[in-house]
Amino acid sequence: MNYKKDEVTNLLNTKCMNVFGCSIDDATEKQAYKTLCYVVKDLLAEKRSKFAKQYKEKEGKQVYYMSMEFLVGTSLRNNLYNLGMESVFKSALKQKKIDINSLYAMEPDAGLGNGGLGRLASCYMDAMTSLGMMGTGFSIRYEFGIFKQKIVDGWQMEFPDNWLEMGDVWLNRREDESFIIKFGGTLKEEWTDGKLKVTHENYQPVMAVPYDMYISGYDTDAVNKLVLWSAKSPNNLDMTAFSRGEYVRSLEENTMAEVISKILYPADDHIEGKRLRIKQQYLLVSASLQSILLKHIKKYKTLDNLPDKVAIHINDTHPALCVPELTRILIDEYGYDWDKAWDIVTRTLTYTNHTVMSEALERWPESLFSAELPRIYQIVLEINRRLVQKLNEVYPGDIAKIEYMSPVAHGEVRMANLCLAACHKVNGVSKLHSDILINSIFKDYYNIEPDKFTNVTNGIAYRRWLCQSNPELASLIKNLIGDKFVHDATALEGLLKYKGDKNVLESLQKIKLVKKQALAKYISHANGINVDPSSIFDVQIKRLHEYKRQLLNVLQILHMYNVIKDNPNADITPRTFVFAAKASAGYMMAKQIIRLISAVADLVDSDAAVRDKIKVVFIEDYKVSLAEIIIPAAEISEQISIAGKEASGTGNMKLMINGAVTLGTLDGANVEICEQVGKDNIFLFGMTAPEVEELWRKGYNPNFFVTPELKRVLDMLTSGILGTRFEDISKSLLTNSFGTADAYMTIADFESYRQAQERVGKEYLNRDKFTDMSLVNIAKAGIFSADRAVKEYADNIWNIKL
Ligand SMILES: *Cc1c(COP(=O)(O)O)cnc(C)c1O
Repeated sequence: MNYKKDEVTNLLNTKCMNVFGCSIDDATEKQAYKTLCYVVKDLLAEKRSKFAKQYKEKEGKQVYYMSMEFLVGTSLRNNLYNLGMESVFKSALKQKKIDINSLYAMEPDAGLGNGGLGRLASCYMDAMTSLGMMGTGFSIRYEFGIFKQKIVDGWQMEFPDNWLEMGDVWLNRREDESFIIKFGGTLKEEWTDGKLKVTHENYQPVMAVPYDMYISGYDTDAVNKLVLWSAKSPNNLDMTAFSRGEYVRSLEENTMAEVISKILYPADDHIEGKRLRIKQQYLLVSASLQSILLKHIKKYKTLDNLPDKVAIHINDTHPALCVPELTRILIDEYGYDWDKAWDIVTRTLTYTNHTVMSEALERWPESLFSAELPRIYQIVLEINRRLVQKLNEVYPGDIAKIEYMSPVAHGEVRMANLCLAACHKVNGVSKLHSDILINSIFKDYYNIEPDKFTNVTNGIAYRRWLCQSNPELASLIKNLIGDKFVHDATALEGLLKYKGDKNVLESLQKIKLVKKQALAKYISHANGINVDPSSIFDVQIKRLHEYKRQLLNVLQILHMYNVIKDNPNADITPRTFVFAAKASAGYMMAKQIIRLISAVADLVDSDAAVRDKIKVVFIEDYKVSLAEIIIPAAEISEQISIAGKEASGTGNMKLMINGAVTLGTLDGANVEICEQVGKDNIFLFGMTAPEVEELWRKGYNPNFFVTPELKRVLDMLTSGILGTRFEDISKSLLTNSFGTADAYMTIADFESYRQAQERVGKEYLNRDKFTDMSLVNIAKAGIFSADRAVKEYADNIWNIKL
């Protein structure tokens, strides 16, 4: 948008006067921050209205992206960047003696997600918008997003994330577009005119109120919306109870309803089979579908053409209730018969799988499901009955197989099977992951409908992760190859011609140093530790999960400690190990591992012989805005999950595009990163996915893999040298009572990892060669753009022409 400095000043002054009754000169910093956000929101609203009008005339197909999580992060700088107005606002504010950076710093992250899955949803909203698509995100307006993490004496403590206090500036409440959601109750069945009519009675109604957040894109006419539902009691006060003087009881029902959207469940890649969680899921699904259908029928006067105009995407199984709920609405509220309704459902819905880990595959006890959602349960049973009938023709008599594929079996409703049965496209999120889906967990479905399955490797909103987080690097790249890469990430390949160019390598090193110094400053502030910006910055930042194997990383650090203790002159390249990770609040082993990282940090730091060679830092409260500080400073990107478990990873892509070299297993998208950069520009180690499978089949006993060096490290876990004795961790690795020790094969991969780490230390010493690797990583990161990923969704899954 084209605004002059004076016009911007006017906008700020007028807004500040309207909202706070003072000019921007007299505003407090908080008022200035809110004023700026409101002005930016108004600009987006204006753009949105034009875009929506255009789109309405075109009658094009649009996407609804359903996700229980959107890890939005901050929006202010992103919106200004996308509008191309960062510098004009900066100078207008500067004239008022306000530093825009201090206003940026006041914005809390909208942490409406746990990790990769939620961040992916936000990256895709950015890409859809930048590509000019009409795409709407649907989620929940959690009053408390992902908890704030503090580390106290090495232990993780969780604190509520009251983001709305400063974050609600972006939200527009639309109370009069609310919908009623029905929980519990009973069903009444009546036959009228030869048709069965089901009436839902005695239910508890909850009102879902939508809040809109505008999503901007880069250099586009489009502005999209993320719609967040909030739960509200439909009755205000129970006046009779209130008049009787029962003040608390009169409010009780309100509180019960409103608790549904109170808090985000902090479990990542793990299910929480709680009643409140399924209520959250149904609230999201039912409110969103009601609103989509109402809008559609207003425009087209029919729902027959829904699949031609609308694609509804299910991000992981959390919104899988879309399948029975869409069926229910078509039948109960719009009078469709089963076959016609089911035809519309299957042609409208698509599903992305995000994990193969059994503890993350959602299942609900039938008893809980039927009590909370009686009508939905009835529909799920009918879907199941019809499917089993069909499967009996395809796999006659194969009861085990049919049971495995059924949405309802063994007293449980299985959400992935519901999606597989109904969605016309199903995708995994990296080549390896999609192959595993069709060759193992979804094989029986694949065999009957191979065309249903496809892959879309994840991608990232690289303008946020490169251009905004690392403007120094972005500007060097612009000087070298022009600015085409800002639209088309594959243009980064132009950098390859600077391989071996001394000047360019030196510039890259300088920028990396600047970003390392900035991170060192943050660490000194946050942790009170001084790290050496000339040491290797080796980072592992992601949710804490055993399969991601932060433990492998710490064990190797203990080994390095031993090497230095044995020989203070050992040839060790100075290294700073940076960790950041939240553990799900109830995940004890993960919390123990955080404790261990802190203990190792203390051990290393207390030892004069070691602390100049290695440093270990655990930075608390990992979130998007923190990732934006750490990633530009990273040189080694630790992607060390056990092969076959990390569906894709996206942290790996953000680090790569900032010039970090991957140290990783052939897991998830690491496989494709390796394909891009070649074996010389990545540090690979460990078993491949088939090797892991093979070792399981043969029977795995970690005790056979313990080398003398590793034995020494493992003994340290319980010797007391770390202060705390980590008996639980030690047991989980070594006690092989039912062949279940070391489920993530940390021990089997240790030696290979240790050697890879040794190579890292050696190769880093040849700075130009290492920087060349870094350059190749940046140059080859373009394919991992969310723009590419969303185009593939549009082409192969949503059937939308761009
Ligand atoms: C990108 C991102 C993730 C995902 O990281 P992985 O390494 O792919 O697991 C998680 N959390 C935040 C805040 C992120 O930005």
